[in-house]
Amino acid sequence: MFVVSGPSGTGKTSLCAEVLKKVSGLVRSVSYTTRPLRLNEKDGLDYHFVTYEGFWDKVEREELVEWVEYHGHFYGTSQEVLKRELAWGKDLLLAIETQGAQKLKSRFPDVISVFLLPPSLEVLEERLKKRNTETGEEIETRLAQAEQEIRLGAQYEYVIVNDEL
Ligand code: 5GP
Repeated sequence: MFVVSGPSGTGKTSLCAEVLKKVSGLVRSVSYTTRPLRLNEKDGLDYHFVTYEGFWDKVEREELVEWVEYHGHFYGTSQEVLKRELAWGKDLLLAIETQGAQKLKSRFPDVISVFLLPPSLEVLEERLKKRNTETGEEIETRLAQAEQEIRLGAQYEYVIVNDEL
């Protein structure tokens, strides 16, 4: 298992998409989320988009290996997907935030952890604005959170600066 974390807007999604194209036998774990679908996203491909009740049902049935509340929405990794893909001998790529990554690492010490850094906070702000998926206020909170998350980067085995995809 490979877990990739990094502040929102660092380019985790693009990086993972490129890696998945190039590495055979590697599959992405599709998470569950209560966040509304963005224009460029597809249900079942980017996330499994579920209601709050649907998500909570999974938590209660212990169907999620880890889950977090992040900026008012819930995100979680499916236990079933994880077990199934690993049983098939696949390598699994998980793009999740830092708390979830820590939980995963404590449960599965063999997980390889990668932290993705933006070249600078200014570049990160630019990327978030360009992506046009968050309001100005949401961008502000994501930037504040980014500073906290970046400090946790030191706990990862690999740190990559995403200056050029
Ligand atoms: P976004 O709303 O931008 O798609 O995702 C917000 C954050 O949640 C990102 O850092 C993303 O990597 C993380 N995330 C996505 N799925 C999961 C998950 O299943 N578990 C955890 N812990 N974080 C997730």
